[in-house]
Amino acid sequence: MSETDEPADDAAIPVQSVDLDSDVPLEVEGLRKTFGGITAVDDVSFGVEKGSLTGLIGPNGAGKSTTFNLITGMHEPDSGAVRFNGEDVTGLPPHEIATRGLARTFQIARELEEMTVLENMMLAPKGQMGESLWRSVTPGLRNDVQRQETEQLERVWDVLDFFEIDHLAEEYAGNLSGGQRKLLEMARALLTDPDVLLLDEPFAGVNPSLEKRLLEHVHDLREEGYTFLIVEHDMDLIMENCERVIVMHQGRILKDGTPTEVKQSEDVIEAYLGGEV
Ligand code: ADP
Ligand code: MG
Repeated sequence: MSETDEPADDAAIPVQSVDLDSDVPLEVEGLRKTFGGITAVDDVSFGVEKGSLTGLIGPNGAGKSTTFNLITGMHEPDSGAVRFNGEDVTGLPPHEIATRGLARTFQIARELEEMTVLENMMLAPKGQMGESLWRSVTPGLRNDVQRQETEQLERVWDVLDFFEIDHLAEEYAGNLSGGQRKLLEMARALLTDPDVLLLDEPFAGVNPSLEKRLLEHVHDLREEGYTFLIVEHDMDLIMENCERVIVMHQGRILKDGTPTEVKQSEDVIEAYLGGEV
């Protein structure tokens, strides 16, 4: 899937070709992050094509979650850059990055378990509007805010309906099954109508039938034009569902290609057989 253009002039490193306002909404270049003496992410570069389902896999400790955290602003890289829709977003706080359309899923935190599904959904985007706006509304603005609230509620119901959890709206999040929780997590991430969705192990602890359903939702959304970067431990799942796979090992990119290319890579086979998977 990832047939690239001519290599860029300055391409000393084999980076996916990069065109700022192109079909590569998310692009990382030369990302590096150390924790004490550990280099968790070491010169990582890749681009995620618009409308793609791209998988990021690798053995435990390979640096997947750290890469994810660098992209979403949870960590600041020691060096390197993250570009989103042609803008440099390196080092921006997570909410700024989210507001620009790069969303991620969050596990339902303990305090949210005591709220209903609907309340969880209503909380998500309001937090992103900023408290100050809500406090300092002038009468003229108040209508705007009310209109926004109505629109938000409509969006909430649409998304709940899409994930087929609208019947659970009044249920406490803490009472949901593991799989229903994953649906809610994805529903929350979708509320802001992001361009790109990052999912970190979205299928962990999900039973096979719900996994299938979650995957169907992901494929449906992709067909609507959403772009996904999925971090996964389960190599087979990624191989079967993504058209592009990036393999990390010991902080570096070992292979970036189609599932077939990845499967045939001796480096990948060695990394998976040689290490703890
Ligand atoms: P993966 O998600 O692929 O399992 P991680 O990105 O979580 O890998 O971890 C990569 C390496 O960085 C591991 O050696 C891990 O122990 C280390 N690491 C990750 N986060 C931290 C942190 N906050 N502090 C110290 N070391 C970390
Ligand atoms: Mg991880």
